[in-house]
Amino acid sequence: MQSSSSIRISSLLSGSLAKLLLTLGFAAFATGCAVTSIDSTTERIGDGTDEQSMMENLASNPKGPIRFQKIVSADWAVDRGGLINLDHPAAEKAGLESGLESIQIYFYVVDHPTKGRFLIDTGMGSVFQKPSEDWPVSGMVQSVMNMDLLKIHTITSQWLKTSGTSPKGIFLTHMHLDHILGSGDIDPAVPFYVGPKESTDSMFLNVFVQGSTDDILGSDRILRELEFPVISEDAKNNELRILDFFGDGSLYVLLVPGHTAGSMAFLIRSTDGLQMVVGDTCHTVWGWKNNVPPGSFTADQEKNVKSLNSLIEIANKLQNVKVHLGHQSL
Ligand SMILES: [Zn+2]
Repeated sequence: MQSSSSIRISSLLSGSLAKLLLTLGFAAFATGCAVTSIDSTTERIGDGTDEQSMMENLASNPKGPIRFQKIVSADWAVDRGGLINLDHPAAEKAGLESGLESIQIYFYVVDHPTKGRFLIDTGMGSVFQKPSEDWPVSGMVQSVMNMDLLKIHTITSQWLKTSGTSPKGIFLTHMHLDHILGSGDIDPAVPFYVGPKESTDSMFLNVFVQGSTDDILGSDRILRELEFPVISEDAKNNELRILDFFGDGSLYVLLVPGHTAGSMAFLIRSTDGLQMVVGDTCHTVWGWKNNVPPGSFTADQEKNVKSLNSLIEIANKLQNVKVHLGHQSL
């Protein structure tokens, strides 16, 4: 039987040990941290809506006021096991194996006739034309991300300069590094809009990427987490939260948690018809066609499955919607 004094000593010891670990920052390793240490504010913007109202509007008015462009920023290759859940029965049946998968990095341009220009994701910044030791990404993260395989096509600042219009705001599908690499080319006064909890959710993996994320974003970056109000009992039961961002039914922002806590997808009534920007809820053509979510790059498989199901269902219901996946083109 343990004596009361030895219990006291061991609890004291574990108390001091905990303090020591805290001092050394080990608490972050045990519980994780947010993807960035840059503060965000919550922004109530646009109107909450439900799936039925959105679908009725999209089906009856597929063409809208927005000029939509997709820009290829870079070619790249990463491990298939991150992009596709290789343990999924459909992936096993197809004999998919780990190895490098060729992908691309995109950004999208949304030009609204009265609200101005918005980007979805950021493309590649001019800093990535410099030698890799000058990049705002740690050597370890560069190596893990296969950044030596990046082949740049378009630099975001050069594209914006040629086009002659500056953005009023930037939507991030999510805050993984490959979606913010163009941040340095965006004026710090332009707000970045992200989904709820996207910049504050704590994850173990973030311990390794927070420094690089902060450096790429820049310390004076304005981060705003969008609010997705629940507008009806129906919407409460349906987990898909939707924001009519401009309030005129031209740009719908969909909250699709799973890949990250606050991942967002977009449905756009463009001058060329309906566009759906999926983000990394599905990275690949094979994943979309077979309804298989990403693998190790996704934080919450179960939620990603639900969100991907919702997006595929919406795309199937809408006629002639052009679907834009996270890292490959259909
Ligand atoms: Zn990505």
